[in-house]
Amino acid sequence: MCKGTVTHLRCPHKLVHFAVRCAGNCELPDGPRFMLEDTCAGCHPSFRVHLINAKYERVRVELTEKLRLAIHEGRADEQQKMHRELALAQSACIQEVLLARQYRVPVEGVIWPGKVEEE
Ligand SMILES: [Zn+2]
Ligand SMILES: [Zn+2]
Repeated sequence: MCKGTVTHLRCPHKLVHFAVRCAGNCELPDGPRFMLEDTCAGCHPSFRVHLINAKYERVRVELTEKLRLAIHEGRADEQQKMHRELALAQSACIQEVLLARQYRVPVEGVIWPGKVEEE
């Protein structure tokens, strides 16, 4: 059995430190387990929210451009479709932001459903 420490985080990830490796190449080392009231860098709420906003900003720009074209070409059905997709993208963005914020450390305050603050 490998020896080392495992630190569980608020997100589904953990920090694994191997002090001694055995020949078995175990997935997790044998040793003390710790809890840390924080997330890994990838799950850090403000980092995640930044990525999510950037992603949806690209989607929004793309859809707005398509909408502009549809208006220009006078295609009503395409305009409706773009309006719908813009609304869908916005609510998907809000959902993802809420999900990302679930790992916030408690001292930063409770997040109420439906409320999205600016970073
Ligand atoms: Zn091992
Ligand atoms: Zn994580």
